[in-house]
Amino acid sequence: MRLILLGPPGAGKGTQAQGLADHFGIVHISTGDMFRAAIKNETALGLQAKAFSDAGTLVPDDVTIGIVRERLGQSDCHEGFLLDGFPRTLVQAEALAEILKELEISLNAAVNVQVDRPLLMARLTGRRVCRQCGATYHIVFNPPPQEDQCGKCGGELYQRKDDNEETCEKRLDVYQRETAPLIEYYARKGILRNIQGDQEIDQVLADILAALQRDLT
Ligand code: ADP
Ligand code: AMP
Repeated sequence: MRLILLGPPGAGKGTQAQGLADHFGIVHISTGDMFRAAIKNETALGLQAKAFSDAGTLVPDDVTIGIVRERLGQSDCHEGFLLDGFPRTLVQAEALAEILKELEISLNAAVNVQVDRPLLMARLTGRRVCRQCGATYHIVFNPPPQEDQCGKCGGELYQRKDDNEETCEKRLDVYQRETAPLIEYYARKGILRNIQGDQEIDQVLADILAALQRDLT
């Protein structure tokens, strides 16, 4: 199964990605996670990405396309993959089409998780992430069993630097301008699956799996 997860920041892409990756036995590739790891490790990529990530704007297409091209060429992607947070521009979508053509594979579906802006703001500003395993929580909607501690691995929870109100508004504007046009792009390709993201986490997963039933060939 080869999937992309579309949807604005805070829609629940990362939350659903874990369940979907487990269900299909495929790798979860999040460009945001890749950039955050590079920033933490102070690599050359991290130095390039930091200012954009902190400001809530997009890392340039050539940089982003380069890391995805390299990642999709790795052997653990042969069984399938789930792209989370990529593509985010039409240029990235065209580049992805080119990469997949070179690899002689195609996407099964583009899952578009839909949530309205006020709820997105509440989700983003209340998000907490585990420093150790990357699990995602929300202080109100999906609280950890113990405050500031990951229920899966016991790691410390932190708030992403770009999850403050001002940067979240910026990220949602960037999404509207740069990424929302991809919905129409994948609809025209006939692989778009729209999902209501403002439901319980398990229900969203069930809806995605039901929508993918016809792509399971
Ligand atoms: P994205 O990867 O799309 O930016 P996340 O998966 O990180 O979004 O989710 C954003 C925030 O919303 C997190 O705090 C997460 O715990 C919470 N969340 C995700 N899905 C749901 C849901 N269905 N109901 C309530 N809260 C959710
Ligand atoms: P995310 O974790 O998906 O919310 O992404 C966090 C940040 O990483 C974004 O605000 C961008 O700065 C950067 N980023 C992640 N994915 C991409 C992408 N596909 N294109 C450009 N920038 C990206």
